Amino acid sequence: MADCIFCKIAEKEIPATIVYEDDKIISFKDLEPQAPVHVLIIPKKHIESLDDLKEEDRELIAHLMLKVKDIAAELGLENGYRLVNNCGEDGFQTVKHLHFHLLGKRKMTWPPG
Ligand code: 5GP
Ligand code: ZN
Repeated sequence: MADCIFCKIAEKEIPATIVYEDDKIISFKDLEPQAPVHVLIIPKKHIESLDDLKEEDRELIAHLMLKVKDIAAELGLENGYRLVNNCGEDGFQTVKHLHFHLLGKRKMTWPPG
């Protein structure tokens, strides 16, 4: 989608430090890391948010979720991690392309801000 920063990263139009990629998803380091390990995992397809998932995306989202543990293992998060999705205005979603934050290598707290 034009003017979507994450589509541009997926299409290699703007640079990012990619940690995992296949035909359906891509994972890259967050520009402003909130933990020693902080990557984003996104579908290459432009889907605005979790709220916009459609039945036809079932296989794609299952694929993404099943890759989380592999990416976490690759990044050395054997002691655990946090997976976050911010959805919509109240969820404080700033980039309107579905993404999951994978954070690790520090002890998380609860509740989030
Ligand atoms: P949100 O607030 O929408 O859940 O998260 C968006 C995330 O994208 C933020 O953590 C922000 O640091 C990250 N981000 C925004 N623009 C870029 C970019 O151009 N490159 C990378 N690698 N991360 C970005
Ligand atoms: Zn997009």
